[in-house]
Amino acid sequence: MTDAAAPTFAIESCAGVRAIRCLLCNRVSELRSDVEHRYCSRCRLFHDIVTEGRRLLADGGAHECAEWRTYRSRCALCDRAL
Ligand SMILES: [Zn+2]
Ligand SMILES: [Zn+2]
Repeated sequence: MTDAAAPTFAIESCAGVRAIRCLLCNRVSELRSDVEHRYCSRCRLFHDIVTEGRRLLADGGAHECAEWRTYRSRCALCDRAL
């Protein structure tokens, strides 16, 4: 089980430029839109939506792992290998 409260991204600073690191696939993006929307273009997931999905899962909600597939072929919510 994953920790529902654990963030799935980190904001970093590369030479004064803000970047977002996806903790699901480790991709770092300096694209402003990715940073602003907390989006990973490799996983094709919005981190805020993943966080909300994990919260619902922790509350006993159902989810379809295939809909949350990350670049690393794991479910972004429950970390099951897909
Ligand atoms: Zn990612
Ligand atoms: Zn899952």
